[in-house]
Amino acid sequence: MSQLIFGDVPGYPVGRCFATRRELSEAGVHRPTQAGIAGSGNEGADSIVISGGYEDDIDRGDEIVYTGQGGRDESTGKQSAHQALERGNLALAKSRQLGLPVRVIRGHNSRSQYAPKFGYRYDGLYAVVDSWHDVGRSGFRIWRYRLVQLPDKRSKVNMTSVKESPTETYGQGADSDVFPVAHDTAPMREVKAMYDFMCQVCGVRLELPTGPYAEAAHIKAVGEPHCGPDAIDNVLCLCPNHRLLFNWGAFSVADDLILVGLAGSLHVDHAHKLNPDYLRYHREHYLVK
Ligand SMILES: [Zn+2]
Repeated sequence: MSQLIFGDVPGYPVGRCFATRRELSEAGVHRPTQAGIAGSGNEGADSIVISGGYEDDIDRGDEIVYTGQGGRDESTGKQSAHQALERGNLALAKSRQLGLPVRVIRGHNSRSQYAPKFGYRYDGLYAVVDSWHDVGRSGFRIWRYRLVQLPDKRSKVNMTSVKESPTETYGQGADSDVFPVAHDTAPMREVKAMYDFMCQVCGVRLELPTGPYAEAAHIKAVGEPHCGPDAIDNVLCLCPNHRLLFNWGAFSVADDLILVGLAGSLHVDHAHKLNPDYLRYHREHYLVK
């Protein structure tokens, strides 16, 4: 039977400290005593521990880029094989898909400025809003996840800065599956108008009672660490289905605009110059083969 608990664990509020991993485990706040990710590929991940580990990790307090598990040599701790989309890594991706909250626990051994001085601290609930892969410094593939703190006042007691709105983190919040309410930027509006709201993959133009509807997708994501530009050579006009598939790396686009992972090719207007560097970035970091 599953022991996963999505959300706060009763009796252990945000800010609660624990001396050891064993104590965390017995409280049910983070069950595994070694692994950084708790959960299952079928149900999702219910908690993570941020500790020493990966030099590429980013911690801004309310926004985290977290590296997946696996592929490390147990004796040296060095990456010695590719990380696969399985076990904890698949669990975090499942949490992204299902929109499940993940408890974040920071350990004293984390490099983060938000780390506690001693032991471990439960820092509240986060949503997984993106996942992609990278080649780590070792040359092996690693999985990475962006987590954003959920807008719950109880979750913010330990944070030094509280943003007005989580969408501001992204600027173009339409890239987030969790906070979909955001205004399009000028380049996003321009690209939609260029295609008259027709999907560049399937040609569908959705008609809502209020008018036509399409979604604008950045090819190279705009958030850290990708830092793609919000410019028309980095934006596609897609229907919701194809935007979702694109953002998950279910398909990508080759330099010659042939689709990878789907049949057909991307329709591109002669006035719309796409930057091939951004297309390559999407293939290299998002496409899941
Ligand atoms: Zn479409």
